[in-house]
Amino acid sequence: MNTKDIYVYIEQRDGVIQDVSYELLSEARKLVSAITHVHFDVVGILIGKDIKGLAQDVIHHGADKVIVADSKSCEHYSTQYHTDIIADIIKKNSPDALLIGASVIGRDLAPRIAARVDTGLTADATKIEINPNESNSTELWITRPAFGGNLFGTIVCPNHRPQMATIRPKVLDADFFDKDRKGEVIDYAFTPSSIDKVVFKQRIVKETHGIDISKAKIIVSGGRGVIDHFDLLQEVATQLGGTVAASRGVVDRHRAPKEIQVGQTGKTVRPTLYLACGISGAVQHTAGMDKSEFIIAINPDASAPIFGIANVGIVGDAIKILPYLIEEIKTLKEHHVAS
Ligand SMILES: Cc1cc2nc3c(=O)[nH]c(=O)nc-3n(C[C@H](O)[C@H](O)[C@H](O)COP(=O)(O)OP(=O)(O)OC[C@H]3O[C@@H](n4cnc5c(N)ncnc54)[C@H](O)[C@@H]3O)c2cc1C
Repeated sequence: MNTKDIYVYIEQRDGVIQDVSYELLSEARKLVSAITHVHFDVVGILIGKDIKGLAQDVIHHGADKVIVADSKSCEHYSTQYHTDIIADIIKKNSPDALLIGASVIGRDLAPRIAARVDTGLTADATKIEINPNESNSTELWITRPAFGGNLFGTIVCPNHRPQMATIRPKVLDADFFDKDRKGEVIDYAFTPSSIDKVVFKQRIVKETHGIDISKAKIIVSGGRGVIDHFDLLQEVATQLGGTVAASRGVVDRHRAPKEIQVGQTGKTVRPTLYLACGISGAVQHTAGMDKSEFIIAINPDASAPIFGIANVGIVGDAIKILPYLIEEIKTLKEHHVAS
């Protein structure tokens, strides 16, 4: 197959590039540097209206080239137009792989593109690597949770190109940035060949309560073991300047909103501190928080799986321990102010 380069769909909303696109650019850089027998570029695809100014930022974050479709027709996300543009870019350039964030938009867009260009798609992946068993390979091994998160499946796409994947936000590091980096910006002229079947009428911004947990630095998370004591968790979070999250065990019982659920069917989080209270540590929960920098778990059951990934484990009753913690934090803060 005469294909080359790794393409990344750069998701922007209101002119703001979404974090997951930076994560994918960093990952794409790692992948192209693992391919040594041929030269592969990282190519960003940026679509929208008045967004060309973002192209340099895409280059600084790892792209060698950015294809920019800047068109009035693309002011709002359109499944039809985005698919038309990306499918056409694929047909003209034959990329070896295309990575898309597993956001609401990415999950809508990726299957359409895959069907249009007749290739396979691994959805909701958590890991990507170049086939480690073969030298001179560009084959991607794409891993995703399967069977309710109880095992992980690695999927390959041997016969079709591009190899496509949607990747969950926050599972990869956005660790590439070089402000002096130079790259090529390529204009893509888009003229819709048909009228968009979906008419954009109005945008209603979803009301969010508190901080978005996927962006929080400090998370105080509660499970069924503390289901009646979220006021205590809120107090700890307030004292630490963090936010409260929950396990599905709590959300399913309508004791916390879905938007603060951590895990495979909730959000993936990577805070500096994750304080897990009354959470057993089911694999579907830990899939969403095991990349946290520092994990503290409080649970009276010493055999709870959460202790397997915690940096500090406290075997005990969170309802008794948290009030002490709150007092301790307050005292420390007072001392800090006094000194
Ligand atoms: C397809 C699928 C997707 C799923 N997705 C998710 C997901 O996204 N997120 C998620 O969280 N789950 C998810 N689950 C559910 C998951 O398997 C677990 O059932 C769930 O995480 C359990 O929640 P929990 O830890 O709060 O409750 P439990 O497993 O019931 O654990 C409660 C814990 O609290 C401890 N405890 C009791 N009293 C106290 C106390 N006083 N102080 C401290 N600890 C105490 C107990 O020892 C126990 O370990 C999913 C399941 C499936 C099948």
